[in-house]
Amino acid sequence: MNFKLIGVGMMFLSSSFLFSSELNKPKLILQITVDQLRGDLPDKFMKNMGDGGFRWLKQNAIWYKNAHYNYSNTETVVGHTTLATGANPNIHGMVSNVWYDRTKKRLVYNIEDKRYHILSKNADIDDSTEVDSSQALAGTDGRSPANIMVSTFSDELSLFTNQKSKVFGVSVKDRGAVTLVGHNGKAFWFSKTSGEFITSSFYYDEYPSWIKKFNKQKLNQRYDSKPWELMYDKSKYMFGNSDDNPWEEDYAGFGRVFPHKYGTVDNKYFNHFLTFSPAGDELTLDFAKAIIDNEKMGQHEVTDYLAVSFSSTDYVGHLFGPSSLESEDNMLRLDKTLEKLFKYVDKKVGLENTLIVLSADHGAPEAPEYLAKLGIEAKWIAPLKWNKKPSLKRLEKEFGVGQELIEAFFPPYIYLNHKIIKEKGLNLAKVQKAVAKEIMDIDGVALTVTSTDMLNNTLPNTYLYKSALQNFNAKRSGDILILFEPHCFANDMDGGAVMATNHGGAWTYDTFVPVIFAGSHIKGKQIYRKIRPNDIASTLSAIVDAKAPSGSSGEILEEIVNHLK
Ligand SMILES: [Zn+2]
Repeated sequence: MNFKLIGVGMMFLSSSFLFSSELNKPKLILQITVDQLRGDLPDKFMKNMGDGGFRWLKQNAIWYKNAHYNYSNTETVVGHTTLATGANPNIHGMVSNVWYDRTKKRLVYNIEDKRYHILSKNADIDDSTEVDSSQALAGTDGRSPANIMVSTFSDELSLFTNQKSKVFGVSVKDRGAVTLVGHNGKAFWFSKTSGEFITSSFYYDEYPSWIKKFNKQKLNQRYDSKPWELMYDKSKYMFGNSDDNPWEEDYAGFGRVFPHKYGTVDNKYFNHFLTFSPAGDELTLDFAKAIIDNEKMGQHEVTDYLAVSFSSTDYVGHLFGPSSLESEDNMLRLDKTLEKLFKYVDKKVGLENTLIVLSADHGAPEAPEYLAKLGIEAKWIAPLKWNKKPSLKRLEKEFGVGQELIEAFFPPYIYLNHKIIKEKGLNLAKVQKAVAKEIMDIDGVALTVTSTDMLNNTLPNTYLYKSALQNFNAKRSGDILILFEPHCFANDMDGGAVMATNHGGAWTYDTFVPVIFAGSHIKGKQIYRKIRPNDIASTLSAIVDAKAPSGSSGEILEEIVNHLK
């Protein structure tokens, strides 16, 4: 809000007190999530960045430099839902990208919902090409936020204004968009099969005309037969001399070195390759701009909310590791994408009317082989096969029953077969303990925790146990939780791609994310007090005077609220 205008406005409003807090509310809240942006990565690569992206934030934003998640399973849906709700997974229920549903008797994908099919034909994920093994486990193309057990900030904004606020979200990943806009907003995501931005019947009966028009442009085709090339000469980069590392993944021919060729649009991996590069974020930006234009975001009497989750940093990190030439160039291009977004919002809404908040859903571990080169012990844990039931000798020996006692396994959880345990007259807590003990013997496993111990709350008051408890939801978490030692990673993604690295642990490289507030006349400042990303939702609620989301455990960040009030 322009201060001069407030002054003029107050002169004409006799009861200015009634209006003052209303006047200070942002017209638009723009919540940006960068998937897998560890807290130090913007600074690490800032030397070659421009003036309008991260450097502008560094100078003009309140930047919390010590923000950490405090639960154990730092995965995408878990982090996004925590950002949206201010709750931890024990409360919001999104404990993992995939969990075992005991009623359905199968592993389920976090936001799958067979009642609400996607609106486009031929846009469902193709299991044969999908790199994201969690999405490939979905039993339907349908998507909705129904599994999120609490309200989001965006829900509270909708409630506070009786749905007058516009609430929109976009991401390459379905879960990156669905989570943040909650139960009342509109979510769009990128189909790697059709190259369009799609949604489900939960949100619309049919596409609004502007979305049909947007998709008709087929913006993905501008990358046809083009490569992802370096933005600058190799000599300018920190990792210019190490493009080709043996631990980097050459997924479906995308290659380990620049230039990475997208191929032609008829290649079944074409849209996948776009998401493995800065192009995925560029397309997300295009769609975000279309939302701002067509829905007139920030031009209503109440605060509107736009969530944009950029996914490329995550894909590039998984395939090449955060310390790679690919990740370095991706960061420089993300910086440009952010600059374009900020400029666009400034032109359309005004940055002084917009509150920008930027964070990440989790951090980024280094590739173990890269760490080993620096003398830091790191390893892949091979004996635990993803989504395969481990055969446990101890069970056979102690209970006379073997593998059939394990009903499902998807790290970090093992689910036991409660029916067989009951039929055989076995003690559930004892079987859990036996499995937990055997898994503990695996090299690289730091800790195993049983659900009985978590329910009884008999655990020692240590960091790891506390992080396990914050992730424990009695309805969705498994019987045994596995926690890895620092720099130990579970490999073999369902027999699919072998990645350069994999997040999802409780250690600081996975929990550390930036929390940045900008716009709305905020003045640049760096804050080193420890906070949690959960604080974002509570703070946003306080800014618009709404109540906090129903499960939020976040604090209100006084620096932000005091600045705006
Ligand atoms: Zn993620």
